[in-house]
Amino acid sequence: MNTLLRIAIQKSGRLQEGSLDLLKESGLKFSNGKDQLKTQARNFPVEVLFLRDDDIPQYVEDKVADVGLVGENVFAEKQKKNQIVKRLDFAKCRLSIAIPRAETYGGIPSLNGKNIATSYPNIVKDFLKKHNVVPAGIHEISGSVEIAPGIGLADAICDIVSTGSTLLSNGLKEVEVVMQSEAVIIANPDLEPEKQAILDKLLFRIEAVKKAKNNKYILMNCPNDAIEKITTVIPGMKSPTIIPLQRQGWSSLHSVVDENDFWEKIDLLRSFGAEGILVIPIEKMIV
Ligand code: ATP
Ligand code: MG
Repeated sequence: MNTLLRIAIQKSGRLQEGSLDLLKESGLKFSNGKDQLKTQARNFPVEVLFLRDDDIPQYVEDKVADVGLVGENVFAEKQKKNQIVKRLDFAKCRLSIAIPRAETYGGIPSLNGKNIATSYPNIVKDFLKKHNVVPAGIHEISGSVEIAPGIGLADAICDIVSTGSTLLSNGLKEVEVVMQSEAVIIANPDLEPEKQAILDKLLFRIEAVKKAKNNKYILMNCPNDAIEKITTVIPGMKSPTIIPLQRQGWSSLHSVVDENDFWEKIDLLRSFGAEGILVIPIEKMIV
């Protein structure tokens, strides 16, 4: 029998599009859309299951799926025997405690004796315990957590924050960050060797896609006497490619630059005399 690696992704919601894009950018082709429970890649031994994100850690632990793509917050909350095998740089958010804006915050100890509403009771319990705080109660609610203080259900909440605008419009303010989160791939720690081999192959591809997104291909014309200085700024994967130009004393220099310190480097290159700088996206990057 041909082994398939079963990957659980969110059926609909904030992670769905990013998860499917990631698989597609890794070269997997799927016949039809997402209006089904599962689909098989046409050109890679992978089957994708579409599930609610909350259920994914349990399914991965039970081996209904071999791996899953969830927010790190959900992974942490469910406390299953799974491991994170890749961080994915999307769906970045934080889990924070918020209190009514009109109240003065007296630090973590002031949460003693408070009622806290959250969809993440385990994470909140662990956080409070670590800080020796004993709340009056932790109330698990599955949605619209931010309205809890306003309707007298809790004194504080712990919920996902990305911009803080939801908190603001509910009269709340963020007072403690409990955890930072991003999309992650989790795996059952006990995969059969055939499945592990498929996973390794997929993770290799995902890493190439991730690296490509964080890097740009850069080309420029520069005076030959600037090549050395430029090379120290953008060394590239091994060394830049240098092609002599017809123009006497000038070369075309090609390299790779990290997106994060891109603008700073461009300024430096210009100060070294580089001209005609082109920056091009990279689709895949294998180092
Ligand atoms: P499901 O119906 O599958 O249970 P859900 O409503 O629980 O979905 P979503 O709101 O789709 O979940 O969020 C999925 C994940 O996306 C969250 O667990 C979190 O990791 C991340 N996330 C949530 N809100 C944001 C946000 N505002 N910005 C960035 N990432 C977020
Ligand atoms: Mg959910």
